[in-house]
Amino acid sequence: MLGIYLHIPFCSSICNYCNFNRGLFESGLKDRYVAALEAEITASGRHEPVDTIFFGGGTPSLLEPAEIARLIAACRTAFDVDAGAEVTLETNPETSTPERMSGFRDAGVNRISLGVQSFREPELKRLGRIHSADRARAAVREARTAGFDNVSLDLMMWLPQQSKADWRENVEALIDVAPEHASLYLLELYPNAPLREDMARAGWSLAPDDDAADMYLWSLARLDEAGYEQYEISNVSRPGRPSRHNLKYWQDGEWLGFGCGAHSTRNGARWKNVASTAEYISRRHTGHSVVAERRELTRGAQLEEALFTGLRLAAGLDLDSVGRLYGIDVWDRYAGALHPAIEAGLAIREGARLRLSRDGMLLANEILSVFV
Ligand code: SF4
Repeated sequence: MLGIYLHIPFCSSICNYCNFNRGLFESGLKDRYVAALEAEITASGRHEPVDTIFFGGGTPSLLEPAEIARLIAACRTAFDVDAGAEVTLETNPETSTPERMSGFRDAGVNRISLGVQSFREPELKRLGRIHSADRARAAVREARTAGFDNVSLDLMMWLPQQSKADWRENVEALIDVAPEHASLYLLELYPNAPLREDMARAGWSLAPDDDAADMYLWSLARLDEAGYEQYEISNVSRPGRPSRHNLKYWQDGEWLGFGCGAHSTRNGARWKNVASTAEYISRRHTGHSVVAERRELTRGAQLEEALFTGLRLAAGLDLDSVGRLYGIDVWDRYAGALHPAIEAGLAIREGARLRLSRDGMLLANEILSVFV
């Protein structure tokens, strides 16, 4: 079934490491944006079956519960949304209150993904985040009280000045609040990130690469022990609770993205909406297409993508089924290129299945580059 992604590009403040498509919240602009987004959804629907809706951003939880309800209703009008659909709202802790969490639940959201990033105050400050660790814990409690039994938490590792012990403290704090799902991302410093300047000015440094590898491997082992299952390079969940929406990205699935900068993949084509919020609203308003670029994927490109993304999954890929789907012998084509990774224990072949080991996951981009 299809997934639906809704992009909400507003934030209360801009974090110094952020490279997403977002801008500062402005009430009037937000009102016009929600109306444009609702219209884009309504105009595009052909009543196809949908089983996930994902509000990402930005900070989607800056919208009012009534606005989230309006957008979910638009999806239900335009698509055949499954009764058991997973409906996720990315939520920042500072936007959560008991009333808002209940409102989101009543609006039809059934999964909360909390952008916590760190449970240590100095780390939150260095990242320019505006919530505290206590606020993050309170947001989890508020979600539980509102009835959410599917909560995910994002943490970032390898932060400036973060030691291995600091990272362990974060992972223990995560286990303490007991989410059903967690995403652990390595901080990526893009070239012009203001955080780079902050680091230079304050003399903050990153732990050596070997320490980052230790942090990653240690946290996965600790989360195994706490009953979580790693299902993707950066994602773990309680058994049976992976993100059904994000699995579509890794399992060669199809999704439609609505809103500025949103991407879609459908019937062998990929397209992207205009990134600018103002341009998106104005194009909708004047009846012009909001699509900025579109390309048809060749079968070869689709295969490369299926291999590249599928091997991010801990279970790896069944080469026979991929081969049948794309009409080639995958092993025959890539065995030579994969040989060094297999010899080094970074990739593992078990029968028809190919997967990365945890050491291999640390070098995933290098290993998977053989496919593209
Ligand atoms: S809250 Fe998220 S999207 Fe917004 S600026 Fe910070 S990192 Fe970027």
